[in-house]
Amino acid sequence: MACIFCKIIAKEIPAEILFENDSAIAILDVNPIHYGHALVIPKNHHKDFLEVPENELPGMMHAVHVVARAIVKSFDLRGFNFFSNNGTVAGQSVFHFHIHITPRYPDDNIRFVLQLKRYEGEEMKDVAAKIRASIQE
Ligand code: AMP
Ligand code: ZN
Repeated sequence: MACIFCKIIAKEIPAEILFENDSAIAILDVNPIHYGHALVIPKNHHKDFLEVPENELPGMMHAVHVVARAIVKSFDLRGFNFFSNNGTVAGQSVFHFHIHITPRYPDDNIRFVLQLKRYEGEEMKDVAAKIRASIQE
């Protein structure tokens, strides 16, 4: 078993565990954006969000809710981010799905550098139609 998060879940390597339920475990990230930066990780190995079965999602989101509330309380925060990197192109480095929760502070200068696009003509309608046509429930 090469996966670092599977090893943490199996308690084969140490981590600062914050919370656990049937579906997920929450730990402190070892390289935090800010102190308190946490990771919520499904107990079963899934490489990314799309691989997580639907029945594990409520437990995952429950853990995100519980841990985010605790982080906000602990550091008296005015805001936080939660996010997930899926795929190398999106910055994923550990290929066992996880959701980051990180404190935010005024003027902490953390931002995506964005060059926002504009839809022209019918493009926005076309893009929405394309995605709607791909939706499978
Ligand atoms: P990502 O780049 O979105 O895949 O995030 C992976 C995160 O896992 C990074 O923020 C790492 O700092 C964190 N990480 C890697 N190994 C460990 C570990 N052994 N314990 C806690 N966090 C880890
Ligand atoms: Zn794993």
